[in-house]
Amino acid sequence: MSEFPKLRCPACGYTEPFQRPLLQCPRCGGDWLDVVYDYETVGRQWPEALRERPFDMWRYRELLPLRDDAHRITMGEGGTPLLRAVNLEMMLGCAHIFVKDERQGPTGSFKDRQASLALSVMKEMGVTEAVVASTGNVAISYSAYSARAGIKLWAFLTSLVPPEKMREVALYGSEVVKVTATYDQTKQVAAEFARRQGIHLDRGIRSIAARESMKTVAFEIAEQLPVFLGPGPTPWRAPDWYIQAVSGGLGPVGVWKGYEELVKMGLVDRMPRLACIQAEGCAPMVHSFQKGLEEAEPVLHPRTRIITVATGSPGPAYTFLARVIREYGGVFTAVSDEEAFRAMHVMAKLDGISMEPAAAMAFAGLFKLLSEGVIRRDEVVVVNCSGHTFPVEKHLLGETWARTVEVPTEAPAVEDGLLSSLEQLDRSVRRIAILEDDPGASRLLRRILQARGDYQIFEAHDGRSGLELIRRERPDVILLDLMMPEVDGFQVLEVLKEDEELAQIPVIVITAKELTPGERARLNSQIQRLLQKGDFSDEDLLHEILDVLEGKTK
Ligand SMILES: *Cc1c(COP(=O)(O)O)cnc(C)c1O
Ligand SMILES: [Zn+2]
Repeated sequence: MSEFPKLRCPACGYTEPFQRPLLQCPRCGGDWLDVVYDYETVGRQWPEALRERPFDMWRYRELLPLRDDAHRITMGEGGTPLLRAVNLEMMLGCAHIFVKDERQGPTGSFKDRQASLALSVMKEMGVTEAVVASTGNVAISYSAYSARAGIKLWAFLTSLVPPEKMREVALYGSEVVKVTATYDQTKQVAAEFARRQGIHLDRGIRSIAARESMKTVAFEIAEQLPVFLGPGPTPWRAPDWYIQAVSGGLGPVGVWKGYEELVKMGLVDRMPRLACIQAEGCAPMVHSFQKGLEEAEPVLHPRTRIITVATGSPGPAYTFLARVIREYGGVFTAVSDEEAFRAMHVMAKLDGISMEPAAAMAFAGLFKLLSEGVIRRDEVVVVNCSGHTFPVEKHLLGETWARTVEVPTEAPAVEDGLLSSLEQLDRSVRRIAILEDDPGASRLLRRILQARGDYQIFEAHDGRSGLELIRRERPDVILLDLMMPEVDGFQVLEVLKEDEELAQIPVIVITAKELTPGERARLNSQIQRLLQKGDFSDEDLLHEILDVLEGKTK
């Protein structure tokens, strides 16, 4: 058996046996206390012992600060899948992009780990009523778990939180308090209310339970990676990069304690690098780090529509994460709301992963860091997909997300009317032929296009059947690969240009081939556009196609 954990103050080194979560260090008064465990013993036991346990957060219970399992409030949190983003990898030309799918928690965000452990610890402490401040997801998750724990919850939310989220909080039976102020001010109001009423206040990042719960993300990834990458020098593996959208910073702070513990236990051989992605309109960590500050300079007036990440004053989380990034490498970087919304569309349409804008920021960050060369395309990258988009917020779709077929109601012509209105719809459908010998790449193009408009797609996997297809279907545009067996793309072009009727169809070449100047010159006279594989986004491709369809020349 391992020894029971100890409470430790990192500021002054004070330690005592872990009995209950203290609010302050008795020696120096510091309000950031850690729990430390018997890593040597646990590290030796885990690889064998964990085989027997269910894949959820509680399989790591030796390193979780709950004394008695009877107090556990659980709904199967943690144990989320690690998914390969196959289509994204192909589009970006990357070798290993993994998505830690935290949407699959009981309330759809990674906050379920925190809620489960925090409410369990509250129950162990005998708490019956609690106050929490939130930008939405913590309130939802805490509400679900507090309902289960029989603890009354007061959820203080900034009034900017989408009403769909607020209604869910109310549904679980919590008291919803809307505060017409920023999130940082809402936190102060909640703390003052808790103090006056003598109700237990959830301390967010200063809460041991909250940070300890987030470690389990690191543990799971370390266990999951060898399934894809094979064994390494240690039983488990760490990625080269871990990317997460950051607001208060609780997520990465906890995850990094987890990685440090994994290294101490000898279960992984190194630390990943951390990319913290903030919203441009609320990026106190990014700005403070650029200025080389030890403590974060708060943003008093956050300007982002992504309320989930609108923490203007990250406090000690910044100090912790700045240390991590200085010590192990990594970056703080910001993305715009629009970049996040675009990434959200890309991930939903490309790999079938629908996430909330806050989670999409992490992917927008990945795109940015790849294009800046900060992250290399051969590195192993894990992106935390932190939350689901259950209530799809209106502004994300605009007004035109559905088409209406209007059927006249006059009696005799019903059937005719129906058909002619459908024809209108048909006429807007454009026909695209894809000639590409790699079926994977061809499928990717098809999916990008079908996700984005009324396109009818025809595919051929070699030049000869491609030409037959073009003669038969007369597409509005041709996407052509150059390197194909037997009849290659150059030959296809020769044939097309000699045929009066087919010569007019615009051609976009998509190729991985390095072109010689001679080839390039020859192509330029025959095609409308040239795209280099692995070097364009789905947006680029769509723009090119729309331009070509509208007859724009370059
Ligand atoms: C809470 C949350 C974040 C921000 O996490 P922090 O750990 O507070 O920085 C990002 N995405 C989603 C979906 C969240 O719920
Ligand atoms: Zn201390």
